[in-house]
Parts: sequence; structure tokens; C-alpha cells
Amino acid sequence: MEPAVSSLYVHVPFCVRKCRYCAFVSEAADGAKMDRYAAAVARELGALDGGRRLETIYVGGGTPVLLESRHWDRLVEALDRKGMIPAAEWTVEGNPGAMDLAKARRLRALGINRVSLGVQSLDDDVLAGLGRIHRAADARRAFDDLRRAGFENVNIDLMFGVPGQTLEGWRRTLEEVLTWGSEHLACYEVIYEEDTPLFRDRAAGRIREDEDLACDMYDLLLDRAGAAGLSQYEVANWARGGGAGEFPGRACRHNINYWRGGSYYGAGPAACSHVGGVRRRNHRSLERYCAALERGEQAMEEVDALEPLARAGEIAAFGLRLTSGWPYDLFRQATGYDLRTEWRTELEQIERLGYGKREADRFRLNPAGLRMADWVAEQMLRS
Ligand code: SF4
Repeated sequence: MEPAVSSLYVHVPFCVRKCRYCAFVSEAADGAKMDRYAAAVARELGALDGGRRLETIYVGGGTPVLLESRHWDRLVEALDRKGMIPAAEWTVEGNPGAMDLAKARRLRALGINRVSLGVQSLDDDVLAGLGRIHRAADARRAFDDLRRAGFENVNIDLMFGVPGQTLEGWRRTLEEVLTWGSEHLACYEVIYEEDTPLFRDRAAGRIREDEDLACDMYDLLLDRAGAAGLSQYEVANWARGGGAGEFPGRACRHNINYWRGGSYYGAGPAACSHVGGVRRRNHRSLERYCAALERGEQAMEEVDALEPLARAGEIAAFGLRLTSGWPYDLFRQATGYDLRTEWRTELEQIERLGYGKREADRFRLNPAGLRMADWVAEQMLRS
């Protein structure tokens, strides 16, 4: 029997303006649209199976901190009515350009206990090139505001491999951020998503990728994050804290649930849920999403019941991004399959290439293999 759903993602589709690399579903913030959105999300949450507290809630976007108090109140009221809060870990994404001390205090007072701050860089030229609304000084102040508001669990998001970013600039960002002492660090190489200005710049030859430089940046990251006392637990994620289990105490429990193939609810435009082997995705259009819920209908646009083996392949791929790999017994619990027999050929190939090892209780990638996690994922997928 599938365990009860214990995670919820809520998508907030509003931003001040679009960043140049962004393919997430978001549009310009507007008071009337936000009112309509908050009412629709409350309805969607009201239709979920409730009655038990969630382990994790993640409110992402978009720029969730653009929501006003009245919108947060609706969200909290809906979750409370379902008995889903307080959640053990409740994260909200914070944009340094839209965060201030008063907002941070209001979020904390609602029971939100973790903020993921989209710093991206402390180089103003890099931030401008990405089209971010904030400058480095805003990021420093926002982190300070979060601490003053009482947040003791803060993630910092950084980006590397950004056009125009130098190794020296990356070093300065990394070294300063590491002095802040955040509990969590997530660092991603920039992605060229189709239909973004950054993608078009590359296609037109105005910028070029430098994979060697990006590798040097990742090497520096591994070195400096480790020296600062952060433990890597996923390809792009580091956290503090000993913790009793296989992850550092401040690892993001919400994301671990994704990587380990757990079920989750999704609410808001474009949000996905995965429950009982069925994946659903909501309308990407805010208008369609709200209109469906106002008519008393479900807001989903796509329903996809994956074959068990195909779903197990996805789960195998996600979980191998973790430094702790896939314990065979947990994989069997999550999928019903034996990783060692069903994926024997792939595991042998990965081992032969020197990217991972079959241990007594698990399969895991080594540091070289973690760099090849996307390639490994392709090997594990089953159509
Ligand atoms: S703030 Fe985030 S969601 Fe909004 S446009 Fe920028 S990257 Fe996209």
C-alpha cells in the first residue's frame, strides 16, 4: 500500500518581471489577479485528502513573497481547515528584491520555518545579465532581515557558468556567501531553456558556453563548500547539521521526498502532483486554472498514469543524484523492483566507466559519477 501523501508544493505564478533565463510559469504581479489566484488555490487545497499534518510544504514560483497578507491568510486558513499544518518543514522561496524585514516577520509568524533565498550572485554585472530585479546589496540585506525575523533555516541559491561570469567573480561570491553561515546551499549551472532571451542570445552567437570554465567553477564549489563545513548530499545541494540518518540535519526534506520517489500534492497553475503512481499537471494558464476551480472543476490539464517500470526508472534516476545513492531495500519499497537485477546491465556499465559502485546495501555514484548524473539518469530511464 502506498504511504500517505506528506508533501505539498504550491506554485505562485507572479513576478515583478521575467528574468532572462527563466522558463517557469509566471506573469506580472497584479492585485486583482492575485486575489483570484488565492481564492482558487484555497479551493484546490480544500479538495485534497486532509486530516493529517504534512511533513513538508514548499511554496515556490514565481515570487511568492509578492503575495500580500490577505493572500497568505487564505492559504493558511485552507491548510489549517484540512489539518495539514503545522508542517515540520515549510519553505517559501524569497527573492531578495521583494523581501523586507516586515515581510520576513509576517512569514515567520505564519509558521513558515525555512526560506530559500534566490541570491544567484553577488556580482551586480552578472545579476544584471541574468535580468534579476535585485542587486548584491539587496541580497545581503535580505539575508540579514531573515535572521532578524528569526529564520534559523535558510537556503541560498547560487548560479554558476553564467555568461560573463569569471572564475574570480564566482570565487568572490562563493567566499562571501559562505561567511554568512546559511544552513543550506544550492548551486546550479545556468540552463539555456528554449524561448528565453538567454537561449536566443546563444543561438545568435552573442554569448557562448564555456564548459571548461563551468567545470572549474564546480571544482571550486566542491572545495570551498566542504571547507566551510557544509556536507554535499546531492549533485547541487549542501547542508549543515549532523542528523541521525543518512542526510545532514538541514538537508531539504521536501526535495529528498522527490528524489526518493515519494508522493506529493501540487497546487497552483502548472503545479504537478504524483499520487498512487498517477502524475497530474494543472493548467499552465492562470486564467484557465482559476476558471476551472471557479466552476467547481479540477484544474488539471494532463493526467499521466505511468507504467510501473517506467516510473521506477524515473525514481532510480532521481535517487542516484543523492550522494547516499539508492539503498536496495528502499528502492524496492518505493518501486516494487530490485535495482540490482532489473538494472543490472546499466549498473555494470556505470561501474565499468568508473562512475559508481555496487556496495553491499546500495548503489551509489562517486564524485566523478555525480558530475555525470544527467547521463546516468538517461541510462536508468525506461520507456
Ligand atoms: S524571479 Fe524566479 S520565477 Fe521569477 S522570472 Fe526570475 S527566475 Fe523566473
